[in-house]
Amino acid sequence: MIQYPKMTLQNGKELPVLRFHPWIFSGAIKHQDGDLKDGDIVEVYSAKEQFLGMAQYQKGSITGRIISFSKQQINVDFWVKKIQRAFDYRKFLNLEGNPQTNVYRLVFGEGDGAPGLIMDYYDGHVVLQAHSIGMHLCRKDIAEALQHVYKQQLKSVYDKSSETLPNTYSTGLANEYLYGSCNEELIVLENNVKFYIDFINGQKTGFFIDQRENRSLLGQYSKDKRVLNTFSYTGGFSIYAAKFGCETVHSVDSSAKAIDLCHKNAILNNVTNHEGFAADTFDYLKDHGKNYDVIILDPPAFAKSRDVSHNAVIGYKRLNQMALQNIKKGGILFTFSCSGVIDKKLFYNTVTAAAIESRRNLKLLHTVSQPADHTIVPNFPEGEYLKGLVFYVE
Ligand code: SAH
Repeated sequence: MIQYPKMTLQNGKELPVLRFHPWIFSGAIKHQDGDLKDGDIVEVYSAKEQFLGMAQYQKGSITGRIISFSKQQINVDFWVKKIQRAFDYRKFLNLEGNPQTNVYRLVFGEGDGAPGLIMDYYDGHVVLQAHSIGMHLCRKDIAEALQHVYKQQLKSVYDKSSETLPNTYSTGLANEYLYGSCNEELIVLENNVKFYIDFINGQKTGFFIDQRENRSLLGQYSKDKRVLNTFSYTGGFSIYAAKFGCETVHSVDSSAKAIDLCHKNAILNNVTNHEGFAADTFDYLKDHGKNYDVIILDPPAFAKSRDVSHNAVIGYKRLNQMALQNIKKGGILFTFSCSGVIDKKLFYNTVTAAAIESRRNLKLLHTVSQPADHTIVPNFPEGEYLKGLVFYVE
């Protein structure tokens, strides 16, 4: 039995933890055992000596991330149980074991009781990104646990944390396989649509899995339409539009590599009415925006922290205004924000302001979010980050 060091909170600071919020801020700590190193596991107690949880320690404004609200040994068995729960939930969601979809998010940080850990599943290959040093130090146990949960189904576990860990830990760190490898060109299925996945060289873990349901929704509005998919990345929305019978679909992304993959994905799905452009969305909309019935705006997070959220609002407004000024009469706008610091209300108001300035009348068709494998739990509202609005534009 390992004895873990102890951290004691200030009087009253246990309340959020008792409501299962997993973060302990530095100001909440009254006392901690000496010589704690980043990534150490600690037992957390209230000022009145009530046990609160097991946390991973990391100096900084969030000093403790709780990985268990009960007293436990943190070992492979612990990770097996945690990952099994996440796996069972994806099974319940009809994502695991679904012949039409073999890509999903297996672990979404706090939403799955694993603050700082992201794991995406691509037809037997799991890509892991640790955002905290505590998770990074547990990576080998986690990889072992994945083998217990998936058994023969598991082909590889790839650790891609060099871009997600804080700089102090990522410098000089190489991404690597923790188990197996992927030697073939990987093709996955999402609602029976095929996509090439390059998780080693691609953005994030290789694919933006969080737009799965919104891509299906776009399909419903695509028949016979001229569709523009901006910030397309590898063409997720574009291929759905084509599969659902659009007249033409154009993808725009500033990354030429992403546009190359759009082409490859179009060919893979026998799509012949797709064209891709490596260009800046703002420039493209200015020059060619008038040609489309449906426009998708799915930019990268314009704001990563609260202090720049004002700039982000200006960016979202300008982008939406440009699309709305141009879109054809009776057109449809799919507009998204994945900035966690821009909440639903602010995003809605920003698009409303853009509509007023572009002098277009909008009718709200859908308010959308992230799918359930990007788990939202009531005790961690910060986990809700993707916001989408679908408008009919008169
Ligand atoms: N909609 C995509 C994910 C978008 S990710 C999907 O469903 O998979 C955001 C993309 O925006 C990235 O591929 C990035 O290369 C691209 N990007 C960032 N700034 C851009 C700009 N100013 N113009 C065009 N593309 C941009």
